Amino acid sequence: MQDVLAAGIAELMDTGRDFHRRGWSLGTSSNYSVVAGRDPLRLLITASGFDKGRLTPSQFVVVDDSGAVVAPGPSKPSAETMLHVVLAEGAGAGAVLHTHSVWATLLSESGVAEGRLRIGGYEMLKGLAGVHTHETVVEIPVFPNTQDIPALARRLESELRAWGARPPGFLMAGHGLYAWGRDIAEARRHIEVFEFLFEVVARRPSVTV
Ligand SMILES: [Zn+2]
Repeated sequence: MQDVLAAGIAELMDTGRDFHRRGWSLGTSSNYSVVAGRDPLRLLITASGFDKGRLTPSQFVVVDDSGAVVAPGPSKPSAETMLHVVLAEGAGAGAVLHTHSVWATLLSESGVAEGRLRIGGYEMLKGLAGVHTHETVVEIPVFPNTQDIPALARRLESELRAWGARPPGFLMAGHGLYAWGRDIAEARRHIEVFEFLFEVVARRPSVTV
């Protein structure tokens, strides 16, 4: 598992530098994880409270399926660890990335009343796994923000059982985006695609007739 952990740490450090530079992971916000083992579940995840643009190998921890730290020790895992665990188990995610961008924050507020954000007609939608045409509408779930992560994790767990055609991501209102993929590369692609779409929708001039 040591090789898997070292590779995961290197890739997530690179992800952090990239996302910080692009303004998606500022002010120690965000958290990232990758599955390091399935039986039993072992999740490598960023520790709480560090600058994601300057992550070091000691700023990661390994947790089990209850979110408890199994290695390497003293650091505290992200407060949102159980959301990553639920996505690894319930969505089969191999990697989960969480960002706090301006556009995701703004748009999530406009979608919270309906509980979803609908985006359709854009070529970039094809960057999401399972989407093969721009002639489609994806519905991104929007959950109210909360500090009660265990409650949100339970809700997410039940929503994932009927996720159906919904895309590999969701928003928390006034907070940010969660996206996942089979590995870190796919999860990064999904974050990029969502962020592109959010910015397009948020900046789109309103058409008046
Ligand atoms: Zn967050």
